[in-house]
Amino acid sequence: MRIYNTLTRQKEEFKPIEPGKVKLYACGPTVYNYFHIGNARAFLTFDVVRRYLEYRGFDVTYVQNITDIEDKIIAQSNEENIPFSQIADKYTKAFLEDVARLGTKPPTYQPKASEYINQMIALIKELEDKGFAYESSGDVYFEVNKLPQYGQLSGKKTEDQKAGARVEENLLKRHPADFTLWKASKPGEPSWDSPWGKGRPGWHTECVVMSRDLLGVTFDIHGGGTDLMFPHHENELAQAIATTGKPLANYWMHNGFLNIEGEKMSKSLKNFFTAREILDVYDAETIRFFFLSKHYRSPIDFNRELIEESKTAMQNFYSSLSSIDWLTLNAELIEIPDSYKAFTKTFTEAMDDDFNSAKALAVLFELAGKVKSEGNKVEERQAAAKLLVELGRVLGFFTDLSDKLVKTLAPEKIAMIETLVQQRDFARKNKDWAASDRLRDELIAMGLEVKDTKDGTVWKPL
Ligand SMILES: [Zn+2]
Repeated sequence: MRIYNTLTRQKEEFKPIEPGKVKLYACGPTVYNYFHIGNARAFLTFDVVRRYLEYRGFDVTYVQNITDIEDKIIAQSNEENIPFSQIADKYTKAFLEDVARLGTKPPTYQPKASEYINQMIALIKELEDKGFAYESSGDVYFEVNKLPQYGQLSGKKTEDQKAGARVEENLLKRHPADFTLWKASKPGEPSWDSPWGKGRPGWHTECVVMSRDLLGVTFDIHGGGTDLMFPHHENELAQAIATTGKPLANYWMHNGFLNIEGEKMSKSLKNFFTAREILDVYDAETIRFFFLSKHYRSPIDFNRELIEESKTAMQNFYSSLSSIDWLTLNAELIEIPDSYKAFTKTFTEAMDDDFNSAKALAVLFELAGKVKSEGNKVEERQAAAKLLVELGRVLGFFTDLSDKLVKTLAPEKIAMIETLVQQRDFARKNKDWAASDRLRDELIAMGLEVKDTKDGTVWKPL
């Protein structure tokens, strides 16, 4: 497997620290508002990275934090006139709802910054003791000039960041590029006691502390959007090197920007969309397809044409699946012939090459074509369908086939299933367990999952 490493600016062979295991950290949301469709790209990118690593047999520990202490939350709290902690709770809940709707798998750990204050204070103290940090009027700053390696991730030089028109000069700092580790609180702001007085930790410190606690001093992959590379990730890395002399992560992955109809997304241009708004119009698989149709590092343009194309592509997958007796897709019934190994190989090679999902999707298209092709034998079409579902699931598609496909079943088939279900419920009512079991087995043999509920038998396709 090869991964493009932002740190070295090249694709490198992926070697995990511990064979068979991958420790992955991707920056999560700052919970001050509903997240936008650009954030959704980052969440989906690392969801797919995680899913694919798992498919390749790695035991993945995936940490995605929740930043629930940050200046933006304070600003939003003032704007909505709701207490700080309620804003954080409100948008944490919204975040969890929206990622669930997007169909991302819950991370292994989802730490909140507010649960780590003591460790953050300890880290800042350590930086101060080692001479990398200084206190100034209750704030604590990291002194970038003390660390010769500073700028290695983003390629930015501290000389480029002299105070000027674009950077507001902060007289408390020794150098304009020095960044905040601890911020003294103003009256009414959330605050914690510290050796420097009441205040709160800076965002860059939060991620170092949470990743270190859950993944160790150096872990395998650190991910996030390109917009986080500087200053956020550069500053995370600086604190790690200053305290341990070791890198924070061996591979740094950054997903590309998202534009809207060719323009940068911004509230002032009125082209700002939350994931929630988009999910009300397009389903999660369409959105997932849209993002995966481009390589994760390329910029992507969110335009109507491309998202409509993604919608059509998903419809095409489902119509090909519904063209066969897809109820029999469950594992035992269909064998995938050796001649189909080439599909899996092409798919894996594409994803092994720095997660080239666009190429991997082309394999799914080919398989969908085989499923639909009426010239093929039924067994071939079934096998192609099974492989389509299997590989699609690696990318996070087809997680609930029944949801999409039940309505495509022939009415006679549904009538047949319903008759069996009624007979079974009748048998159960009469405590005729033998008949009830026989009818259940008949339903299972059709490729259905059967559940007993207080309202009777419930079925769904596997
Ligand atoms: Zn972070």
